[in-house]
Amino acid sequence: MAPVTINGLRKRFGTLDVLKGIDIDIANGEFVVLVGPSGCGKSTLLRMLAGLEGISAGEIRIGSRVVNDLAPKDRDIAMVFQNYALYPHMKVADNMGFSLKLRKMPRPNIGVRVDRAAEVLGLQQLLDRYPRQLSGGQRQRVAMGRAIVRAPQVFLFDEPLSNLDAKLRVAMRAEIKALHQKLKTTTVYVTHDQIEAMTMADKIVVMRDGVVEQIGSPLELYDRPANLFVAGFIGSPAMNQIRGKVNGGAFEAADGVRLPLSQIPANSSGRAAVYGARPEHFTLSDNGLPAEVSVVEPTGSETHVMATLGSTPVVCVFRERIRAKPGDTIRIAPVPEFAHLFDADTGRSIRAA
Ligand code: ADP
Ligand code: MG
Repeated sequence: MAPVTINGLRKRFGTLDVLKGIDIDIANGEFVVLVGPSGCGKSTLLRMLAGLEGISAGEIRIGSRVVNDLAPKDRDIAMVFQNYALYPHMKVADNMGFSLKLRKMPRPNIGVRVDRAAEVLGLQQLLDRYPRQLSGGQRQRVAMGRAIVRAPQVFLFDEPLSNLDAKLRVAMRAEIKALHQKLKTTTVYVTHDQIEAMTMADKIVVMRDGVVEQIGSPLELYDRPANLFVAGFIGSPAMNQIRGKVNGGAFEAADGVRLPLSQIPANSSGRAAVYGARPEHFTLSDNGLPAEVSVVEPTGSETHVMATLGSTPVVCVFRERIRAKPGDTIRIAPVPEFAHLFDADTGRSIRAA
């Protein structure tokens, strides 16, 4: 285990600026998830941590060592990729022990490491099988086993679950999290899936276009997004965003609909802004605002309702079952304490002091 420190990290491919100055502090034993849309630079950053990609500027430390110029094999890290190819002609045990064999570790020691990893991963009964005799989830576990036997300072994962079907993905994400709780190895995990980030991370780093938009715990990002990008990226269905301005004691949408605010930030009156309301922060209320229902999606545990508030489409999620049909008018009220306000120009959160 070791902390990882990333300082002013930049990457250029020719004239393309892919990482534009990244700073991230990762504590010893922390599970950090890098999340962001495809192409934002997540894999590049991970590959730079692994030493597979050069550094244009900045510094990476693993523990107290600057590793900028250290070869991958000397960094004491292990990486699990999306396309983890197992050796088809080797049994599970040999697949798992192969990297140790390459490092000339004595056979009995390899056996001990492989047995221990197999126990952690529940693979004891499968050590004599070939990859073709395994399910997708079991193969994924073997791929993780190959990383675990190395007992590295840091695990790096690049979208390791994206080739699995939805159900297996949910199961494996719980397994990886449980594994981290057992091994407590510092982990950097890349995904484009915000739910994976929310459910697995101690700390999430939201990236866009080669910059870090926000770093925080899953609930910090959910409850206090720093800007419109994070507000829209974290959470599903996404936060409703309504344009307008602060006017008097409330928010006035462009179409004149007035939405409540519990606190009015200083000097914000008249300021062009975006009102943010998460779908579950609308309640049904006789005193609420009229909204015309367009779609009703019952999921069983909750009901998702798409409706038009004034001229803005909004999504509401209700825990209760509602009878509304498309074309009906419901009355909805955002909970003012949970409302967000963002500057219309910069997209930055405006908070009452
Ligand atoms: P992500 O993993 O977030 O989807 P990547 O890190 O793979 O994104 O890519 C970030 C950007 O860098 C993309 O625009 C990609 O096309 C570009 N890129 C990645 N690798 C190279 C390379 N070897 N040469 C040139 N451009 C690259
Ligand atoms: Mg990638």
